[in-house]
Amino acid sequence: MRISVPTIPAAILSSTSSAKPISPAAAVERIASFLASGNVATVTGAGVSVDSGIRAYRGSKGRYLNPNYKPIFYQELVDATKKGFAFRQRYWLRSYLGYKPVRDALPNTTHYALAALQYTNIIPKLITQNVDGLHHKALAGIWDEARMNQHILELHGSLHKVHCSHGHIVDRDTFQDRLSVANPQWKAYMDELEATGQRPRTNPDGDVFLEGVDYGTFKVPECPDCLLESRLNSILKPELIFFGESIKREVRDRSQLDVENCSRLFLVGTTLATYSAFRLVKHALELKKPVLLLNVGPTRADPLSGVEKIELPSGTVLRDAVRTVLGSRAIQDSVVDAMLHSGVVRPPIDDD
Ligand SMILES: [Zn+2]
Repeated sequence: MRISVPTIPAAILSSTSSAKPISPAAAVERIASFLASGNVATVTGAGVSVDSGIRAYRGSKGRYLNPNYKPIFYQELVDATKKGFAFRQRYWLRSYLGYKPVRDALPNTTHYALAALQYTNIIPKLITQNVDGLHHKALAGIWDEARMNQHILELHGSLHKVHCSHGHIVDRDTFQDRLSVANPQWKAYMDELEATGQRPRTNPDGDVFLEGVDYGTFKVPECPDCLLESRLNSILKPELIFFGESIKREVRDRSQLDVENCSRLFLVGTTLATYSAFRLVKHALELKKPVLLLNVGPTRADPLSGVEKIELPSGTVLRDAVRTVLGSRAIQDSVVDAMLHSGVVRPPIDDD
């Protein structure tokens, strides 16, 4: 099996930006005119969630923000040997400590601006590489779950569900409670971190950076449904795609179909370092669809001709672009109006 760690080729990182400088006002006009004709498929990445306090993997220079970042490989996580058992203790302890900040994160102005475009059907299909569920949160109470699932595709899965190797699925909050019950000493540690306002450095996938701890003391409880079937040592894994793990065929096919059925492709806050997202851009270009990319910093799509790039943070321009596209509806439709007045702006404090 081919394992690829998402990277942006060094040649792109060392080259100067491919985007011509553009003023925010001109960017608003350009984005609005791109979106105006509708039927826009949209792909989002980690950059979209930064204003919600979730750190992106890469900064504005395209390099990993956490120099110690090492992706978690699927093969290690599901390894049935003793080594795999120890790996899962380490994974689940870090994820246990990192889940709450991701769970409690709130949609920001970009999520709500995109939600307004989804609600008005300008963006009928949104594909996200994020596992934080924030696009869903921005539409909570407006769309039911079935409708959200129809219009939002989580390309890399979700952090909010956990499944065992025998197909039992549990929601993450319940699983988090099980981890707390099994590990009172780590629960106390987490409570103390929270009480003192300390936050471990968290990656967008909920993994935290942790040093000098004994992972061996962490207990990952058995799957209760498996216990009922007298099965032990079932492997528990969040429902997200790890490096080295294949995306389900139906998810891949659906993402491809979303691109085929759209008139144009809008990319927001993504470096397109993962191939599953990059191939969608290539597919759109093959089909001669216009592609607009809104991202700060180098991306894997920079060398591709046919990709128009605007190098500005989405938080500074997208909401105004949506107001321009929707015109009077942005004020008269109370749902849209509320969306365009919603959203936190709380980027992680020590970002580059
Ligand atoms: Zn099970």
